[in-house]
Amino acid sequence: MSKLLFPDANFDKCALCAGSSVLQTSHIIPSFVFRWFKDSSATGHLRFGETPNLRVQDGFKCRMLCTYCEQLLSSWEKKFSEICFKQIVEGRATRIRYSFWMLKFAASVSWRVLRIFYAAGQISDYPPSLLSSIDDALSVWSNYMLGKRPHPGRYEQHMFLVDTVDSSSIDGIPPNINRYFTRTVQCDVVRNEDSAITYAKMGRFVLFGFISVPSPHNWKGTKLNANHGTFGIRDIELPRNILDYMLENAKSAGTSYSRISKAQQEKIRKSYEANPGRVAESESIRAMDHDVRLFGNKAFEFTQPSTRANTTDNDEGNAR
Ligand SMILES: [Zn+2]
Repeated sequence: MSKLLFPDANFDKCALCAGSSVLQTSHIIPSFVFRWFKDSSATGHLRFGETPNLRVQDGFKCRMLCTYCEQLLSSWEKKFSEICFKQIVEGRATRIRYSFWMLKFAASVSWRVLRIFYAAGQISDYPPSLLSSIDDALSVWSNYMLGKRPHPGRYEQHMFLVDTVDSSSIDGIPPNINRYFTRTVQCDVVRNEDSAITYAKMGRFVLFGFISVPSPHNWKGTKLNANHGTFGIRDIELPRNILDYMLENAKSAGTSYSRISKAQQEKIRKSYEANPGRVAESESIRAMDHDVRLFGNKAFEFTQPSTRANTTDNDEGNAR
């Protein structure tokens, strides 16, 4: 599993249409996701799980698309943000109807994740068979976005919603599961011997793009359709290794967060004190409440710096 925040990726022409006009700065995970996170947080600031000592503005960006392609992707983002994302996170709907823009949006996010990992050399150690599938997936997703094919074929897009949980029969569920499910943004490319997928977690919206998936029938209730469908809270089935992967990510996020420095904890404490009303109403606190309900003190201990002496305050070092 590879992780990145600031990959060393450079493009000299549009990564989607190969046009050579001036490149725009594009978000890998769309900016509306980060805006919502900031608005619904206890402090009004964001921190990436991997670098908890760094307050981030609005996620990772890269110059990779021409104006035409940037606008094309923005048009699907706008539809997804307004008709799906906001309706659900603001509690105005539990299920929405979608048309063509849903799969276009999903493919564009999976494509961006894979393209940036590829350009940053993060998947160069993959076996030849998977590299060939990656080339094919990138090409199919590009052609689909550019209107040259009607759907992405076997390079399917699967999306589902996660929410807070108050009870669980799953073994080994970490004490920050609700904070991970509802309050993290993450992108990744994941593989084992014969399969590979992209992962884009946008808060409660979890998106997987299939690159090589030998048993797609093990996924139930998650596949997005090309023309129309419904999306929302529903019963789904996922392969066990996908659930394990998400639980592992939650554990890593907890461990990373426990490395937060004393200086940064102090900043957070001051933000809390400055605006207790905002804190009480925030989604961050709602997620924490659910973890406490499920795990008691362990919910705090799991993400607390327990070995402060070994922790360095790398705020300055991380300030990019
Ligand atoms: Zn372009």
